[in-house]
Amino acid sequence: MTQQHIDVLVIGGGLAGLSAAAALPDTMSVQVIEMETAPGYHASGRSAAMFEAEYGPAPVRVLSRASEAHHRNNGYLSPRGMMLVGSPAQADEFAADCATLSMTVIPVEQAVQMVPDLDPEKIGFAAYHDTAEDLDADRLLQDFAKELRRKGGTLRTGAQVTAMRRLGPDELQSGELKSDDLQSGQAGAHVGWEVTIATRSGQEQLRATYVVNAAGAWADDIARLAGIAPIGLQPKRRSMARLPAPAGHDVRDWPMIMGVSERWYAKPDAGKLLVSPADADPMPPQDAYADDMVLAEGLARYEAVMRTPVTRVEHNWAGLRSFVADGVPVLGPDPVDPSFVWCAGQGGYGVQSSPAAGRLIAALITGQPPEIDAATVAALSPARLHRPDLEASA
Ligand SMILES: Cc1cc2nc3c(=O)[nH]c(=O)nc-3n(C[C@H](O)[C@H](O)[C@H](O)COP(=O)(O)OP(=O)(O)OC[C@H]3O[C@@H](n4cnc5c(N)ncnc54)[C@H](O)[C@@H]3O)c2cc1C
Repeated sequence: MTQQHIDVLVIGGGLAGLSAAAALPDTMSVQVIEMETAPGYHASGRSAAMFEAEYGPAPVRVLSRASEAHHRNNGYLSPRGMMLVGSPAQADEFAADCATLSMTVIPVEQAVQMVPDLDPEKIGFAAYHDTAEDLDADRLLQDFAKELRRKGGTLRTGAQVTAMRRLGPDELQSGELKSDDLQSGQAGAHVGWEVTIATRSGQEQLRATYVVNAAGAWADDIARLAGIAPIGLQPKRRSMARLPAPAGHDVRDWPMIMGVSERWYAKPDAGKLLVSPADADPMPPQDAYADDMVLAEGLARYEAVMRTPVTRVEHNWAGLRSFVADGVPVLGPDPVDPSFVWCAGQGGYGVQSSPAAGRLIAALITGQPPEIDAATVAALSPARLHRPDLEASA
């Protein structure tokens, strides 16, 4: 029986998968497969939704800067600002953070004017910059999905990839591997992939020339299904608590406030305050939830510099930020099998960097020159990673 053949099958309907799918040309058939019933259910729907161009390792900063025009032109950004605060005992850490985040030291009195609930008796240092902005992550995601549909692509939810098989050249169906449309030679010696998808109504198989692995915390599981060497991805939990605004305070114009060495942060959100313990506890891939003790410890670090104690948490949640050993995202064709394209390891930057990351994946599939410099493309490539399978064959 002839199976449906598509050019690019994207696994994962988070910001990574949708940004890549939306950036592919309308001459390619593209399908995004998402196991949950809605896109953005995992990390992409649980973020702090900040744009901070100076946050993260150098290749991430290149991607974030290259994404800024997309965010600004579509009206996703709104002013927020970021304040760093430290206790009198944290002088060295405070100075290091100021340098890394390009922040300007301000008098403690000025910090208290901006955030009147800060206790000047408890903070020794403060710094500020206005380049951190709120980012409308929900609209960003919905607009990528709209752009995908406008180009004739499909987003399927409630569909889980459960198996993958490489197809050999002898399994070619008529009309398959439209090499005129695709970058010549990229698909390697085989035709592509047969991907098994489980839905509520049963199982089905799709054939695809390229697979983009944008499965977030599950990206190494997808590699194992495909018989591709995993990249050592480590999901790490980050939790959030939503608190009522401290009594008597209108928090809407407060900046994001961060403790030194990112031990906690707080951010206004629709008249309330989001406080994160900035936890980074390693976890297996899962539907993450906040741990009460971790939240309580984080809230205590926040309270240590504020006047008003926390009396009530209205809501809490957690999401997984996934990293490889060097903390840099993994974007590009697998060095052993270029028809398997990695789009993983976005860590804590996958919202803000998604437009340029998605365009990079599309450029690498179609053979267009990437918009970012070659050294950054190499620094993001899976080819940089320590891979015992490659070293054994070298
Ligand atoms: C608390 C928190 C705060 C954050 N704050 C920020 C921030 O301020 N700014 C910023 O830029 N980033 C932030 N991040 C990071 C950002 O959220 C992530 O980097 C980004 O969302 C990762 O996107 P993704 O698409 O790779 O992952 P996900 O959104 O997790 O998407 C992966 C998708 O793959 C699907 N999937 C997995 N396996 C399968 C399968 N077998 N079949 C089908 N589908 C599958 C999953 O269901 C999931 O929806 C934060 C993260 C957290 C948790």
